[in-house]
Amino acid sequence: MSESILIVEDEEKLAGVLADYLRQAGFDAVCLGDGAVVTGWVREHKPGLILLDLMLPGKGGLDICKEIRAFSAVPIIMTTARVEEIDRLLGLELGADDYICKPFSPREVVARVKAVLRRVSNPVAVPAAGLILDESCYRAILKGLDLDLTAVEFKLLQFLAASPGRIYGRQQLMDRIYPDQRVVADRTIDSHIKKLRKKIALASPDEELIHSVYGVGYKYECG
Ligand code: CA
Repeated sequence: MSESILIVEDEEKLAGVLADYLRQAGFDAVCLGDGAVVTGWVREHKPGLILLDLMLPGKGGLDICKEIRAFSAVPIIMTTARVEEIDRLLGLELGADDYICKPFSPREVVARVKAVLRRVSNPVAVPAAGLILDESCYRAILKGLDLDLTAVEFKLLQFLAASPGRIYGRQQLMDRIYPDQRVVADRTIDSHIKKLRKKIALASPDEELIHSVYGVGYKYECG
């Protein structure tokens, strides 16, 4: 049985193109353009994954996502026309599994759909081969080598590694690292991440664990 993908998209032409690409990739694809009917449809048909547009007639993607999360853990990929929206969405912690910014290539969407499905079918994906995090002394060992991290770098790595594949915005990471709400410049996170990546690269040159997601933030992913 092939996995069924629900495409919630009010631009009919775009929905049609996506459906074509997904079918070519071996999925079943169904399109809905009216936000008001989505939650009921999902309850009844239990799709394998949902591509959910943010701006929809009838009911918006935000509300739909919340409604669906109340009864289902089905993977949801949110699509939005504004990259600035993604940072805000991440902060709302809606429980979407990924975010894609328009305009996107249908090929990219198919790749992201496959990646999310792979991830949810292997929930016990190990953080990384040979990564040991010792919280008691903020020590991270990768492939037998001490990464020699600062406390902030350790916390960033530990936080990101706890949810492989999940994307975090800069603000979320700052809230996590500086819970006392000290005023910290936005780019501070970037410079910590940069140093962290350098240290990881020293221990493991051909494996990138911390990935930047353009315009959005960072995620941890290995392999
Ligand atoms: Ca739309």
